[in-house]
Amino acid sequence: MGNKQAIRCKARRASGKECMNWAMSGQLVCKNHGGNTPQAKAKAQERMMLEKAHDAVKRLDIEPVGDPLTALSLVAGELTALKDFLRDKVERVGEEIEATDSTAELRGAFTAYQTALRDVVSTLATIARLKIDDRLVVVEQQKADMISAAIVATLAELKLDWETQQRAKVGVVKRLRIAASA
Ligand SMILES: [Zn+2]
Repeated sequence: MGNKQAIRCKARRASGKECMNWAMSGQLVCKNHGGNTPQAKAKAQERMMLEKAHDAVKRLDIEPVGDPLTALSLVAGELTALKDFLRDKVERVGEEIEATDSTAELRGAFTAYQTALRDVVSTLATIARLKIDDRLVVVEQQKADMISAAIVATLAELKLDWETQQRAKVGVVKRLRIAASA
């Protein structure tokens, strides 16, 4: 999308006729019909940036994510840096606000900050959930080790001959596997 797009303003004049001015870059309206406000320009910039990013990604050979936990950790780091940057931005714009009266800029920075904050929270929550799942696997393994240690100790206490102990162990392991896969 170039600087001047071939789109006419969609708004109508007071007379009811179509406006016919060129729409602002990335927008459907001209500067006289709301296209020149800071919010409209910021939104148009965001839309064009996303469009460019999607076009660039479409041309790439996408690699599958083999290790989601590491990939998520990297995303969390990037989102946290972005969130911190935007928080600083909100503070700086907030300090300048009385001199410049740019409430639109403050609102824009604050909205971006809130979005980044939500993204960080949801990413960290996902990571926390994955780590809990990993811990559950460890707990299950510990339970299995305890059960097998108890069985071995019981067989030893019964003073069975070696061959009978081995047959008992094999039988117990077989039944535990059947129970676990049921
Ligand atoms: Zn117009």
